[in-house]
Amino acid sequence: MKSIVVANWKMNPASFKEAKKLFEAAKKAAEKSPNVSLIVAPPAIFLRELAGGYRGKKLSFVVQNAHAEAKGAFTGEISIAQAHDAGASYVLVGHSERRAAGETNDDTRKKTSAAISARMTPILCIGEEKRAALGEHFSFVRDQLRAGFADVPPARVSRVIVAYEPVWAIGSETTMKPRDMHEMAIFIRKTIIDMYGEVGHAVRILYGAAVTDENAPAMMREGDVRGLLVGHVSTNAERFAALINSISKA
Ligand code: PEP
Repeated sequence: MKSIVVANWKMNPASFKEAKKLFEAAKKAAEKSPNVSLIVAPPAIFLRELAGGYRGKKLSFVVQNAHAEAKGAFTGEISIAQAHDAGASYVLVGHSERRAAGETNDDTRKKTSAAISARMTPILCIGEEKRAALGEHFSFVRDQLRAGFADVPPARVSRVIVAYEPVWAIGSETTMKPRDMHEMAIFIRKTIIDMYGEVGHAVRILYGAAVTDENAPAMMREGDVRGLLVGHVSTNAERFAALINSISKA
């Protein structure tokens, strides 16, 4: 089974020229790693040109955000259909930086379901802002999951990818402990199984936050995850190539 790596470039780089260079380096690293499946999340404005120029099967594209409505008076937004038309086959839903800017659990419900209806794959991002001694972060994560999945029909549950990203680790260089991720993966799976039954086992779970080439192999080995969502390291060509390489060797 291939490991999934999502490269979330966020609002980087500044020009298409740099984006193309970064993309070429990521592509090269992915092509050398047969057991890695790479999904690139460039800024939407670069999506069509990057995706249009790519002919292989090794890589896919994910839009960092899209609106749940199909069309209309939503200045500055892009629709899921437009993202698909530009070359994306995945939609990132509820990234913590979108949530910090006001996106709610209810928005994630609408976007996840709209992505499924558009035959795109939603990557539902969840994760607590801080860890609580009494384990309140588990109920926080459960609420995010229940909301995000609320309108997903049982026959489509296995299409959703869940990216667990502890917000307190994002942007740093230290992941949470792989065994804590393992515990969280069991909790995520159980929450989905409680909603949908056995089909919940098929949901793919990714870990994201502070992933580097140094911590990625242990997370893949011990974290009970299908892959990784990578932020700042994915915008550094050399570090990202080292990360992909570290997973393919693990
Ligand atoms: C993210 O924000 O999705 C993320 C994984 O960031 P970083 O890798 O920079 O922690």
